[in-house]
Amino acid sequence: METMICRQCGIPKPLNAFGVSRNICTACTSLKYRLRLRFQFLEMYGKICNCCGQSDPRFLTLDHVNNDGASHRETLSSDTMPALSEAVKKHRPDLYQILCYNCNMGRAVNKGLCPHKDLSLQEYLDKVTEISKRLNTKRDPSVTPVQAKAEYDKERKLKKLLSFMKPEELEAVLVSRKGDTR
Ligand SMILES: [Zn+2]
Ligand SMILES: [Zn+2]
Ligand SMILES: [Zn+2]
Repeated sequence: METMICRQCGIPKPLNAFGVSRNICTACTSLKYRLRLRFQFLEMYGKICNCCGQSDPRFLTLDHVNNDGASHRETLSSDTMPALSEAVKKHRPDLYQILCYNCNMGRAVNKGLCPHKDLSLQEYLDKVTEISKRLNTKRDPSVTPVQAKAEYDKERKLKKLLSFMKPEELEAVLVSRKGDTR
């Protein structure tokens, strides 16, 4: 009988044991299996968000400890099954942790550090307000409308980015634009 090795459980199974997902057997794609894996993971890694302490399992998700913001978003959008089973097979708290969706996304948009662990909200708002004030450049009468438009577009793009950038990064942008900051 022709068999195929399941990418998930590693067991050779007859071809009819595979469904729509052609390299993972139906037992491994079943809801029951996924749920069990998820609860095993939560049980093993402490059952609460490692950042804010959220304990409702409906909010909890697997987080890759070492990933920074960018690669983090990728793992969130792709299938987390391989990571989940890996985390359960080998207990590796140095690689995997539980975070709630909020802290997980917070980490992703804040370059790897959840805002809970960064500046306080007030400190953040103060910094951004201070920096955004410096983004308003004075109009030079010799600037042509075309140049003014380009400048305006640049400002708008920067302002759109403000909420997703850390104050240090904003500072760096300002430094690189020395000419028009004051
Ligand atoms: Zn399988
Ligand atoms: Zn949390
Ligand atoms: Zn957090």
